Order: sequence, then structure tokens, then C-alpha cells
Amino acid sequence: MADAVSLPDWNRLVLKVGSALVAPDERGCSTTHLLPIARFITESRRRGKEVILVSSGAVAAGLATQEVENPGAGLSIPEKQALAAIGQPLLMAHWRRLFDVPCAQVLLTYDDLRRRARFVNAQNTITELLDRGTLPIVNENDTVATEELQVGDNDNLAAFVAVLAEADLLAICSDVDGLYDADPHEDPTATHRPVVDAITDEVYGWVGGAHRATATGGMRTKVEAAEKATDRGIDTVIVNGTTGDHLDALGRGEMPGTLFRRAEEPLSARRHWMLHALPTAGRLVVDAGAAEALRHRGASLLPAGIVASEGPFARGDAVEVVVHSDGAERRVAKGITQYGAGDLARIQGRQSQSLPDVLDDVPSDYVIHRDDLVLTG
Ligand code: GLU
Repeated sequence: MADAVSLPDWNRLVLKVGSALVAPDERGCSTTHLLPIARFITESRRRGKEVILVSSGAVAAGLATQEVENPGAGLSIPEKQALAAIGQPLLMAHWRRLFDVPCAQVLLTYDDLRRRARFVNAQNTITELLDRGTLPIVNENDTVATEELQVGDNDNLAAFVAVLAEADLLAICSDVDGLYDADPHEDPTATHRPVVDAITDEVYGWVGGAHRATATGGMRTKVEAAEKATDRGIDTVIVNGTTGDHLDALGRGEMPGTLFRRAEEPLSARRHWMLHALPTAGRLVVDAGAAEALRHRGASLLPAGIVASEGPFARGDAVEVVVHSDGAERRVAKGITQYGAGDLARIQGRQSQSLPDVLDDVPSDYVIHRDDLVLTG
């Protein structure tokens, strides 16, 4: 039998609690699953640990107060936004009843995570809240976040919060026992994976999407969250919060669900931001020689190595770099381009010294400088 996996030591935890636990009936707020979670948080704090809670459930709490026809068929964005506005204070009141310390509401949007000044501001606030001994409770600011401004699911939000708060552990608490190599509801041969050392395309191949009307995440968003956190050196666990057992085990330093181990060489804050926080505006297809130079020689990307590009993107936007090999497309890198899509279409495939022949303004010999590039595959 494989050795039991133990929970890495931690001091600052971001604990994400999904709608399935807050609202098992998909509406209202229940205490059934939250009591053991609150006990775990209180006990951890008593041992001197810091905890930040990321709680879903605003939409479900709002839904309980409203007549909405057939929410199972999916809610529109304005409906979700209105329900979140109604439900968020109810959700906070619900959590507050379970703690003796002040609970502090923190509502964030994607913009707060992507823009440096706002990121630092949110970081300072969370630090101050922890220093004051409060329990920060974070949710997405669903009421104002339109599609392009939202993180969209609380798994990824929790990972961003873990990075922002410089946590050393992210725990995603859901109604599943962790990660399986297929959907256990549909495939009887699905096997539970207690540890994931690296989040590869194979791991993404194991997981599907969301199944609930009021929730947005699913196993896929949990794996995305684990990738964001582990890339920055934060261990990530998925545990089942529907029985107190998993939380009690975590409290004893055991590892009941799935542990995604933190990267041995975490990305710097800037590279992590480029890879995970900056939206990807376009794609560059490079030839095998360029892919090899980026991957193994620490090179910058030159126009000569680019065979195709897909925009629209502007100078300064982040783009994905891919290569075609053995009939499949593989990710190579993500980086910040020195050229917009229009200019790039004119210079791709050319030697750098011939760029002035086709462009009046040549800001750089490179399309992506090595300092503005993160390898992804
Ligand atoms: N922010 C949403 C809510 O509080 C939940 C999003 C999610 O479940 O991922 O209802």
C-alpha cells in the first residue's frame, strides 16, 4: 500500500467553501455542513493559524427569497447579479452567527486582481484584517462584475486570493472526495487520486464542467485553481466538506482528499501575473526551431520564427505561443507582445534586420522579449 499522504505544514490558509455546502438544496443558507467547517476554522485560529474564507452561496441565498421560474434551466447574468445582491448580506449574516470574532466582507472582481495598484490595495486590506484578528470572508463582487470583468467562479477566485494573501495553503472544500481520473458519477472505473505532483494536460483530461444552477465551478475550475496556486508555491487540497471527517483529518495534519503539491520552482510574482492574471488576447503559432529556442535556450521570440498569428491584439497585450507537432497543437509559452496583430502580420517570418523595409516604426527586434515570457509546456 502506498504511504499515507500527510498535509504539508501551513500557517496561512485560504479555505474555499462552495455552494454545494452552503446551500445543499440549491437555495437558502444551511448550517448542516458549515458547523464542522466553522469548528475547523476556530480550532485552527486557536492554534495561531490564519484563515481567510472564500464563500460562495450569495446567489443561492438570494434565490430563496425570490420567485424564479425553473432556476435549474440556468440563470441569466442580470438574474444572478440581482440574486447575489440580495443574498450576499444574508450569506454574511449566516457565517457571522458561527464565529465569535468579527467577520469582514471582502468583495473582489477580476480587475482588482489584474491591476497592480488595486491588487496591492486589496493585499494591504487583507493583511490589516488578519492583523486585527478578524475573519475575512471573500466573494466575487457579482453584482457589478460583467462577464469580461469577472473571475467567474470561486475556485479560481480563491486561488487568486491565496496568491494575493501570500497563503501557504489553499483548501477547496466541496461535496466530492477529491480528484478522480474520470467522472465517478458516470464511470465506475474512476480512481481516486490522493496526490498530484504536476498539473498536466492529462490531469485536465480527467475533469468536466459544472452541474449545478447556482454554482459555476466544477472539477475543472478546481484544477485550474490548483494550477494557479501551486505555480506560486502554494500547496492546494480538495477535501469533502459534507462530512466533518475530512476537516477533522486536516486539523490533525492528515490529508484526506487530493493534494496538489506546490511547484518546486514557483513563478515570480510578475511571471505569475503574466501567466494567470493577464487575459490572453491572441495566439502566435511558431515553428519547431523557435519553440525549441524558447523552451531550451532561454531565447526571446523573433519575427522569423512565427508562422501564423490570430488576433485581435494590441502592442502590450498578452498572447499565447503554440507549436504544431505530430498533428497536435502544443502550448509553448505566454508573453507580452511588442507588436499588435496588424503589424505582426506584416513582419512574421521575416529576419529582424528587414523589419524597417515593411514598418515605419520598429519598437523592437523581438516580438516577445525573454523577460516578458513564461514557458507553459
Ligand atoms: N459568487 C457566487 C455566489 O456567491 C458563486 C460562484 C461559484 O460558485 O463559483 O453565489
